[in-house]
Amino acid sequence: MTRPRILLVSTGGTITMTGGVGGGIAPALTGEDLARAVPELDTIAALDVVTFSTKPGASLTLSDLAEIAALIDARLGGNDAGAVVVQGTDSIEESAFALDLIVKSNKPVVVTGAMRGAASPGADGPANLLAAVTVATAPIMTGCGTTVVLNDEIHAARHVAKADTSLPGAFRSPAAGPLGRVAEGDVWLLFKPERLPPLARVIATTVPPVALVRIGLGDDGRLLSALAGLGYRGAVIEAMGAGHVPASVAPLVGALAEAMPVVLASRTGAGPVFTRTYGFDGSEIDLIRRGVIPSGMLSGVKARLLLQLLLGQGLARDEIASAYAERSEGHRSRREREAV
Ligand code: ASP
Repeated sequence: MTRPRILLVSTGGTITMTGGVGGGIAPALTGEDLARAVPELDTIAALDVVTFSTKPGASLTLSDLAEIAALIDARLGGNDAGAVVVQGTDSIEESAFALDLIVKSNKPVVVTGAMRGAASPGADGPANLLAAVTVATAPIMTGCGTTVVLNDEIHAARHVAKADTSLPGAFRSPAAGPLGRVAEGDVWLLFKPERLPPLARVIATTVPPVALVRIGLGDDGRLLSALAGLGYRGAVIEAMGAGHVPASVAPLVGALAEAMPVVLASRTGAGPVFTRTYGFDGSEIDLIRRGVIPSGMLSGVKARLLLQLLLGQGLARDEIASAYAERSEGHRSRREREAV
């Protein structure tokens, strides 16, 4: 039987890290090294390996991801059946979401990494790589968008978050749960997410700076007033609870929303930003009236990437607001109900 061809793009991360005592571990292994360490891969796929970089996850950029997306589209447009991107876990929740937004192919794209260094006892990299390639070869994953596979669990890019600094099971999808798992070499898909249409390709050099500001107890919001002067073109506010800031900060948010698109996310880590429940000064109703765009179910870091990509396409505020509404499941079903 011919094995499916899978593109394996290695960018770095703990899965590639080795090093001496004292100096700490750092990216060192190539994609070829990773593939060689897991001979079982040979039984399920023929790998096209590309070592894109040897960076930690924290140093990846949107322009790296735009390049990787172009590579994926080129290869998946040909004979490759799917793609696996290997990277640092610190930024997987963001890069998987960005790939989900910009890769055009509907073939499976899977992002993986490891929580333990390559030479650590119980290193999880080899098992994660095998599971990720298994998912990338599964025809049932076509049309599911980008997924994240670690610890034998399959997560949708738009829901997944790194929720622990050290456990091999650090990845969770608080709102949706995992889509499925890998067991006995098979993919068990519990439900199939509908992929949202990808965005138009963004030229990396046009991606504008977007600030992410988290609001804490007693915050006076002075950072908000500085953003325009610092050259930011948009901002995401990670507010308290369902989308709330101190009453004294609300006018600063309003002034910022007059200067640039401002998206309202929640710092809680799960659940939608509200739009029509609380009416106090600094509440979501107040902030929306002052011009902010609710992020729906998107976390602050994901909402920030989406805003960068939308601004990069030159969209106006109202088009940006519609894009957030479209990419938020709750809003979509409400709009559908209202349309009936
Ligand atoms: N701790 C990270 C990882 O698991 C480091 C990184 O993101 O590069 O890969």
